[in-house]
Amino acid sequence: MEPNKKRLKLDNIKINIKSILSDDFLDHIPLEAVYVASIAEKKQFSSLIFELNKYLPFDNLSHLKRIRKNDVIICKLNDLITFTSEIENECHLKSTIEDLNLECNEILDILRNEKLAKIHVHRSILIGYLKAKGISDNGFLQKLCDDLKIVDIPSKQSLLRWQYEEMNKIWPCKFHPNKQMELLHKNENFTSNELIFHQTIIMIIKKIMNLEKNLYKNVGICVDPRTNSVVAMSTNLAPTQCGTPSSFHINEKIKHCPILLIDFVARTQNGGIWKYENIKFLENTNDEKEFCGILKEYVELLRCGLGDEQIGAQKININNQKGNSNKIIKEMVGNVPNNCNDFYGEDEQNNLEKYGPYLCTGYDIYFLKEPCLMCAMALIHSRARRIFFVESTNDGALKTCTKLHTAKGLNHHYEVFQCSIID
Ligand SMILES: [Zn+2]
Repeated sequence: MEPNKKRLKLDNIKINIKSILSDDFLDHIPLEAVYVASIAEKKQFSSLIFELNKYLPFDNLSHLKRIRKNDVIICKLNDLITFTSEIENECHLKSTIEDLNLECNEILDILRNEKLAKIHVHRSILIGYLKAKGISDNGFLQKLCDDLKIVDIPSKQSLLRWQYEEMNKIWPCKFHPNKQMELLHKNENFTSNELIFHQTIIMIIKKIMNLEKNLYKNVGICVDPRTNSVVAMSTNLAPTQCGTPSSFHINEKIKHCPILLIDFVARTQNGGIWKYENIKFLENTNDEKEFCGILKEYVELLRCGLGDEQIGAQKININNQKGNSNKIIKEMVGNVPNNCNDFYGEDEQNNLEKYGPYLCTGYDIYFLKEPCLMCAMALIHSRARRIFFVESTNDGALKTCTKLHTAKGLNHHYEVFQCSIID
């Protein structure tokens, strides 16, 4: 250490970390109406269940138990509505409808109304439906429908215990607990050592903001969580939220802090598409690690917060590395065709061992500001593992406007956490 240099000090802060989960884990489970029959005579039970399971499998309600005491679920009311609407193609119901002396539309209205005031209509149609499904009319079809109820039951599987406990009061449910998701929901997934590390990175980010007197509006730090080592760090080059002023040229416009960070990570893998004349990166001083993603002016801050051994990226295995680290950003500026298929290995962890780091695969990324949609998508393309941010933004795509990481159609998903600083 240089003797005369005043040692930088980080302000001590404490943070709370909250997982940003898909609404599926936060919302109440919607209910759906089913027909339930009460069977008083126990000895009829097993043959009835046997026939029901054989001809009316419980596939679309497999998250529930079919029986509750003397009650048994026959089918969804919606199944009956669909069946009745397709009456033209069904011969089983024609005579029933004639007997009821009603138009098809009137029957549908009664069914949709879910009221049992016209129970004979429900019962007649249900018997027609069960016959059409192949259940033999050996006397108990009528009995089955004698004591008929419409009951609201959970329409889908509970994902978390709180949903299960709520739903199980309504109707007995099956439940397969997911330990990791339970921990995420309770925000109990980090050990105290992990919390201290996340806290230190946020302290460094805050310090950079203070050093720059708020000139930079965003700071990003990419970490390899296997070694807790900083791979790259970026700030945005102009003062706006996630990004840059609209008057910039297209290549400049996309230089939001997260995009720059991805490019800086690519530099550590012999990639990176931009030249940075005004930015100084750390030079490589040993053969074990790559330092060219670290901004030179902040390295003292990193040393002060983390120490030398926690700075630098693992080198790529050039012989094994497939694809081209520059590809994502080239796609964004339109230099190459839009084809990301080369990135998507079947087993990311194996690829990480085999090829070394590939863009942000396996890396955790921390930002002061919630990324915008463009940046959030770029982080998905770059295969980041977890995203942490401190402040929500008006155009944020991980919590505020949408939760991009929970979109079902994407073939990579990262976890997202918001870190709030406790005063
Ligand atoms: Zn952005």
